[in-house]
Amino acid sequence: MPTDHIDLTSPLLNRRAAVLGAVGLLALPASQLAAAAVPPAPDVWPNALQVPGGVARLSLGPAAVRPVAHAGEVPLLVLGDVIEWTALVGIPLSAAPGRASITVTTAEDNSPRQVGYTVAPKRYTEQRLKVAPGTVDLSPENQARYERERAHQATVMETFSEPLPQAAALQMRVPVPGRRSSSFGLRRVFNGQARNPHSGMDIAASTGTAIVAPLPGRVIDTGDYFFNGNTVWLDHGGGLLSMYCHLSAIGVTTGDVLKTGETLGKVGATGRVTGPHLHWGVMLNRTMVDPSLFLPA
Ligand SMILES: [Zn+2]
Repeated sequence: MPTDHIDLTSPLLNRRAAVLGAVGLLALPASQLAAAAVPPAPDVWPNALQVPGGVARLSLGPAAVRPVAHAGEVPLLVLGDVIEWTALVGIPLSAAPGRASITVTTAEDNSPRQVGYTVAPKRYTEQRLKVAPGTVDLSPENQARYERERAHQATVMETFSEPLPQAAALQMRVPVPGRRSSSFGLRRVFNGQARNPHSGMDIAASTGTAIVAPLPGRVIDTGDYFFNGNTVWLDHGGGLLSMYCHLSAIGVTTGDVLKTGETLGKVGATGRVTGPHLHWGVMLNRTMVDPSLFLPA
């Protein structure tokens, strides 16, 4: 029996082969068939990493119509086809390790079903800083501004639009060349007071470097925010959003539609930062997840 890296006994692959045959692929000339039969690359983006701040890829099985899935009240991105649907679930940095579940409804089901998964623990680095007392407290004016902005951002984060992303493998392009920090999830404690963990990727680049869209997307918000400085939000569909902070210049306006690689602004040091860099956030189901899961290694 020939050894092969592809498990041809997989019922999924057999169903796929049946469907490919049904759509006429098997009627192609042998030369084209050979090319078409090349197995897909084993890497699928985003990479599944079932930890706080990671992404779960949950198989929902076959269904004639795209299932509807929710984490609590929040709608989830479901991609795939009639042979296999997959729910992509952003896991909050604050999630407790252990069992978790989503709710799935299909046209065939009489009632919603739960699909469970396990969140493994992940200990992110903790950074304890001592700073002069008072420097981490906001003035009443800035506190009020921050709270207004936080409420506005919360409405931006609720965006769930169609069409959904075209590709089942959501590989992103790096939005700016430069050294990427691995500080996603870093827990910062100032003078013994825990701050929100770092919920994005910092990419070092000099002021003025062009920032490009990592996937096709629509601009859903731009503004100058207290902590994040000049900021652009992109909507990629289905609750997959991305955010770009500390820009020296914003090059788009709300409603603009960008193709992958189109410029949205320039790297800067606006907001509460110590030097020029891009803070890049990726959000799934209103949850900031590790952007590196969307990038090729
Ligand atoms: Zn950052």
